[in-house]
Amino acid sequence: MAATQLLKSDCEILLLDQKASVGRKFLVAGDGGFNLTHSETPSEFRDKYDSDWIKNTIRQFSNKDWIKFLKQIGIETKVGSSGKIFPADEIKPIQVLNAWKEFLASKVQFVLNTRFLNFDEKQVEVERDGKKEKLDFDYLVLALGGKSWPVTGSDGAWVQGFEEKGIIVTPFESSNSGLVLYENWIEGLEGKILKNIQTSCGNQSCSGDLVCTSYGLEGKPAYAINGALRKMEKPVFKVDLKPQMTPEKVFEILKKAKNPSQGLKELKMGEVAVFWIRNFVSKERFLNPKELAKAIKEFPIGIKGFRPIDEVISCAGGVAESEITESGELNRYPTVFVAGEMIDWDAPTGGYLIQGCVSSGYVAGKAISKIIN
Ligand SMILES: Cc1cc2nc3c(=O)[nH]c(=O)nc-3n(C[C@H](O)[C@H](O)[C@H](O)COP(=O)(O)OP(=O)(O)OC[C@H]3O[C@@H](n4cnc5c(N)ncnc54)[C@H](O)[C@@H]3O)c2cc1C
Repeated sequence: MAATQLLKSDCEILLLDQKASVGRKFLVAGDGGFNLTHSETPSEFRDKYDSDWIKNTIRQFSNKDWIKFLKQIGIETKVGSSGKIFPADEIKPIQVLNAWKEFLASKVQFVLNTRFLNFDEKQVEVERDGKKEKLDFDYLVLALGGKSWPVTGSDGAWVQGFEEKGIIVTPFESSNSGLVLYENWIEGLEGKILKNIQTSCGNQSCSGDLVCTSYGLEGKPAYAINGALRKMEKPVFKVDLKPQMTPEKVFEILKKAKNPSQGLKELKMGEVAVFWIRNFVSKERFLNPKELAKAIKEFPIGIKGFRPIDEVISCAGGVAESEITESGELNRYPTVFVAGEMIDWDAPTGGYLIQGCVSSGYVAGKAISKIIN
């Protein structure tokens, strides 16, 4: 996206990547839902991001701007369930990537199998065919990604060089990650789905389905509360096992039932919910309709941790906001910009990640274009 902003400028653009092709994680993202962005109003949309820097970036290149750009390169989009934006029917992720590459091709030279090693204000050191070389530049935009899914090329190896230059990089942590639970919480439940629940932790909450796996829970309601859980010393979140009903209604049904088990049946609690209630609610609370209703509405679950960074959707952490200007230029190295997931910002999955990346590429490219034109 940074290169895209420079297509009309009088300059030479090289786009380097250590892999034999670009956009591998973009294609991995396409394998799943491939939410390109979200159709929310600007303020609702920006609220999903955790830092002022990225919110300001989104302000400059919004979800609407991104959709408009996609249309410009021939990619129509559609609004899916719960407002997420996808490529229109039949358009495959590789077609989106190829359309963008073709849009760039008249001006941008793709230099592949070329590994970034180091930089100063004027030169970037790379490794190609086992040989190191230095390339001159006027402006350098680094968009080296975070550390998840290293097979796609984002291996986080750049961090050491940045730290050696005194640039603060907040350590990477798993984000949009499944939750690892203690064994007794999930034994025998693998593959079962906890339908229509709501998770909450701190100021984060999310409705949807949770899937039980061999180690814990996966699904949007698990990913959406990662940020709040990461801040806790002993991470615990709450599940509303019956979000469609008020606490009063749940209590009323339990009170009228001839016994608690019958009450759970009348509430149509699923298998996982019943298993948790039976195993982790004390006998006294189970027998007291008021307490049982409270447990159903605010069921606390402690987590053991997150999944390894290699397999999660995204990373929290990266180049600290204090190290960059509004457009992502490094304070210590003017002429060098950073963009995308390598910067320390976080957002839930569902289109917000790709949007954050393209918006940050946009502000970097736009800033360079302003200087050189
Ligand atoms: C399974 C999965 C599903 C996802 N689904 C979605 C989704 O539906 N919606 C959404 O918004 N987001 C999604 N994401 C997240 C999204 O794909 C990423 O946030 C986004 O791709 C990050 O873009 P980036 O350009 O910052 O980094 P990356 O896409 O990781 O790109 C970094 C590039 O830098 C190159 N590179 C790294 N180090 C070097 C080096 N030393 N030398 C040369 N090149 C180097 C890499 O090869 C790579 O091509 C998903 C991610 C995953 C893993």
